[in-house]
Amino acid sequence: MRARSVWQVSLLAMLFLVPSAIAQTRYTIDLPEPQTQMVTITASFDLSDIDAPDEIAIHLPVWRPGLYLVLDQAGTMRDIAATDNAGDPLPIRKTAKSTWRVERGDSSIVNFSYRIYANSIRNRTRHVDATHAFLSGSSVFVYNELLRDMPVRVDVGEMPDGWRVATGLRRTGPQSFECDNYDILVDSPLEIGIHDLIEFDVNKVPHEVAIWGRWDGNADRIVETFTALGEVQQDIFGEFPYDRYVYIIHSAEGLGGGTEHYNSTVCSTEPTMWLDDDRWDRFLSLIAHELFHVWNVKRFRPAGIARYDYLRENYTELLWVAEGTTSYYDELSLPRAGILTADEFLEWVGRNVNTHMNQPGRHIESLEDSSFDAWIKHFHRGPDRTPDRHNQGESFYRKGAIVSMMLDLEIRRRSAGTRSLDNVMRTLYERYPLGGDGFASADVRSVVAEFAGEPMDEFFRSYVAGVEPVEDHLDNLLADVGLRLVAPEESADGEVEAFTGMSVSSDGSVRRIRSDGPAYAAGVLAGDQIIAVNNLRGRADTNTRLDALDPGDEVTLWVMRRDELHELAFIASSRPAGDWELRPVDEPTRAQRLAFEAWAGTPLPVQ
Ligand SMILES: [Zn+2]
Repeated sequence: MRARSVWQVSLLAMLFLVPSAIAQTRYTIDLPEPQTQMVTITASFDLSDIDAPDEIAIHLPVWRPGLYLVLDQAGTMRDIAATDNAGDPLPIRKTAKSTWRVERGDSSIVNFSYRIYANSIRNRTRHVDATHAFLSGSSVFVYNELLRDMPVRVDVGEMPDGWRVATGLRRTGPQSFECDNYDILVDSPLEIGIHDLIEFDVNKVPHEVAIWGRWDGNADRIVETFTALGEVQQDIFGEFPYDRYVYIIHSAEGLGGGTEHYNSTVCSTEPTMWLDDDRWDRFLSLIAHELFHVWNVKRFRPAGIARYDYLRENYTELLWVAEGTTSYYDELSLPRAGILTADEFLEWVGRNVNTHMNQPGRHIESLEDSSFDAWIKHFHRGPDRTPDRHNQGESFYRKGAIVSMMLDLEIRRRSAGTRSLDNVMRTLYERYPLGGDGFASADVRSVVAEFAGEPMDEFFRSYVAGVEPVEDHLDNLLADVGLRLVAPEESADGEVEAFTGMSVSSDGSVRRIRSDGPAYAAGVLAGDQIIAVNNLRGRADTNTRLDALDPGDEVTLWVMRRDELHELAFIASSRPAGDWELRPVDEPTRAQRLAFEAWAGTPLPVQ
């Protein structure tokens, strides 16, 4: 949805005397005992203006936008009750895991109340305790499909003294808010409680940062860096698509990651992050990621997720654009904003390429397939997913970022530096506004062709629909911006090391095992506890002993698996003792230097 011009709005107001919207669904949030992690919600559905049946269906979404995973959030609801206009009870029937049917008779109002146990901060869905209540709409607010597109009002009722509310919803009173419909409510989480608040403008648009948890108190650093990132991204799209933006930050041990929302985000981190410069830079890339999503996903999104179906999986083969392209820009925004040096940027991108090249699954699963299967693969937390994920496929975040970079360099090459992926992003934003049908793969290809000056079917066939290795073409493209891809053979300077294909935790347990290594073929399993390596005790020393192996060494592992001791033997193979890296070419031309600077917003480092 795009903002109408002020002129259009005032003309409409003069002609039609637009009344202020009447809420059709009103939610009241009560927090009488937050220390018990319980929140009470009452949803009042006003059916007087619609042709509603005698029995209405009420649902709680089974997932939340941004986390493509069925969470079955109704599983912590209890004390469910319904009443009519007069406050008398109405009969309720539960007909599916997340659906209730209420017989309303002739009552035009249905009040549906319930309590939710809210203890899921890592999923960024809902978390209540003595210090706050974080409530993400789809995890706490039930809905009726007939009223879904109508105005919503939210009142925060009972809450402890001294608590306050941060949210992207429009404020209509000290504890009252409204929005145009349920979808916006779902995308406007509320942070209620004790939090610090920082307010600043970026090019006259208000931004707020609400921080729950321990942090370093350096508000100036936040304002300076968040402003710089906002300006870089506003440049790409030409405007901010909101009139106010809210960063909700959760800072507590064990937290990480973020979720994009309509005009807000929730980003989580650990309190020690604020004390570490490298982790601060990583955190800023998260901030850049979630802000970029305010356009890419929150204002234009793939057809399969254009209008969310809250009761089941929503399929799209384009998460590589939604998440991968966003990941590309979250890093590219940092040198452009003067936060990372060019050297640091090259190191970051090089590390992504290196990780990608070390995923056996890169030969197995295309970007389109990994996007489509996100629900059962990437986001799935089943015990049989994580240990083998890198063998099964490749993340649409990581490969999506690399392929987005290649697309960017391709468009720059084919348009002689006059066009870039920035143009593609801005055009998708202008052409496929929220509320429409969303964009399809064919639309991405045609917008790319528009700016590249010709169709790029072969590119999409190879790297998006297919699993063609990226390294040769990537190296070729990088030359345009004065860079080259350095293979491990070269970065290792001829040195080789033993390769087992295992990655082992500090407690000696096998964390991951690569399907292209000798330990995999010998039957070493993720979860095995290594007791001894070649008859010498493992545990904390396991990695030291494995690192000391030479290529061709015979390896005998004693491992505990369940309550049994197993002996497993294999021969260590070899690999170059280096990584894939991005480096500047030896003597960059003026054209290469100019192209690098136009791309990364900072000069090409001298080799
Ligand atoms: Zn994302």
